Amino acid sequence: MSDIVREVGRRRTFAIISHPDAGKTTLTEKLLLFSGAIQLAGAVKAKKGGKSATSDWMEIEKQRGISVASSVMQFDYRDHVVNLLDTPGHQDFSEDTYRVLTAVDSALMVIDAAKGVEEQTIKLLNVCRLRNTPIVTFMNKYDREVRDSLELLDEVESVLKIRCAPVTWPIGMGKTFRGVYHILKDEILLFGAGENKAGQLVDEVIQGLDNPRLDELFPLEIEQTRMELELVKGASHPFVLEEFLAGELTPVFFGSAINNFGVREILNALVDWAPSPGERDATVRMVNPTEEKFSAFVFKIQANMDPKHRDRIAFLRVCSGEFTRGMKFKHLRLGRDIAANSVVTFMAQGREQVEEAYAGDIIGLPNHGNIQIGDSFTEGEALSFTGIPYFAPELFRIVRIRNPLKIKQLQKGLQQLGEEGAVQVFRPLNGADIILGAVGVLQFEVVASRLANEYGVEAIFESTNTHTARWVTCDDPKMLADFEKQLVNNLARDAADSLAYLATSRVNLELTQERWPKIVFHSTREHA
Ligand code: GDP
Repeated sequence: MSDIVREVGRRRTFAIISHPDAGKTTLTEKLLLFSGAIQLAGAVKAKKGGKSATSDWMEIEKQRGISVASSVMQFDYRDHVVNLLDTPGHQDFSEDTYRVLTAVDSALMVIDAAKGVEEQTIKLLNVCRLRNTPIVTFMNKYDREVRDSLELLDEVESVLKIRCAPVTWPIGMGKTFRGVYHILKDEILLFGAGENKAGQLVDEVIQGLDNPRLDELFPLEIEQTRMELELVKGASHPFVLEEFLAGELTPVFFGSAINNFGVREILNALVDWAPSPGERDATVRMVNPTEEKFSAFVFKIQANMDPKHRDRIAFLRVCSGEFTRGMKFKHLRLGRDIAANSVVTFMAQGREQVEEAYAGDIIGLPNHGNIQIGDSFTEGEALSFTGIPYFAPELFRIVRIRNPLKIKQLQKGLQQLGEEGAVQVFRPLNGADIILGAVGVLQFEVVASRLANEYGVEAIFESTNTHTARWVTCDDPKMLADFEKQLVNNLARDAADSLAYLATSRVNLELTQERWPKIVFHSTREHA
């Protein structure tokens, strides 16, 4: 077996999706703890908050207790290389999350078992479904009073339209939470509370659901569990690997992230069942991860921590081949060679220089601009990886500046923030206004504070009469030109120079669509 085949085969790249507060951060920390990547619980949070130069938008992040920026953690587990991609939980930054989901091969869905399926989970799962991403489910917080487990499964099946295959089953809950029964292994893992048990990673195990010891330990709960399991057999689905890989069925695990309970089972499921990197669509052809030549695409750009330097890191998902330090590859959109000496990887304990990377790995390319979300990199072949979505914004503001002499800085700042995907920038065909579009209102706050900090521009945002936007295309160039001419006051170009129709109301949009049946109005746009 060649190196590449072996390396690709042992990679697992996934993201955690959840509604805020379901326990994503806590679970991330425990996953790292299990892998031995960190010694102490609390390290993940400490890293987020601390460190030297904190810009204002990080202040926003801290104040609101949300994670604005998402990051990447790589660790080894059972001779596998696991890449865990963090996603911002706050819905105002959901665009960033959608893009991260294009870079993973599977996802871990965390549900607060006291609450069940929540709104943000529904949205994120729908994004996973676009690519049939396999989903592992974790029902969290069983150390609390939670909802009936069967009812939770039923809700996942009916709301999220995915079949559930419980792999473990909870015994009791809240004060009487005793552990979980592993249905496939026929063994009981006894629950022991304790948040930071880094040293004690093995739970006590009892073999067999009928083991009389269970009746001695907790007769009431085990009786209840046996009854439930009878029902579960009839009401749920057996685990079938192919169905999981097709994104049709999700293995379900129960536990308590904060008590580090049930976490190893998830990690094992990811290693045993989740797919290693697969083929990727690069427009002209499918790219196999084990091809020798290197290829990658950018799914995220993050401003560097030091606002004065305006450095940015482009996050590249490797799609094929082998990346080695010092190799040259090509930035296709600009036709430029990149000598990748400064590329970084993301270990749980901080950044390290990458020596080599394979499909599924994420590498970071420091740059001063020029790289955009969706850009492809290869050793020369003209590939274009697809599927990075932009969503039609729902909120709009006109940007004004207090000091007109700063117009250049404003334009540069917005250009870069637009390329990073922090906000969408529209330039109306008519007039000199700049209109910003966002999915969540917090995005404007981030933009305002970053413009001030990084570009020295004090910007004021005013409301506009724009209600919604649609990207427009037409097969008939003459028709499009006519459309442009007649509706010039409603048209704008975005950061990628794509033409967009800015509607003043839903009715206005509908009327325009009726009047121009040959023009196609798109509510999403893939990268140019
Ligand atoms: P995130 O917003 O999804 O990242 O959620 P966090 O990991 O920050 O958790 C949200 C809250 O739920 C925090 O107060 C956690 O301490 C708490 N939490 C997480 N897991 C558990 C659990 O298993 N049991 C209980 N009781 N609380 C938990």
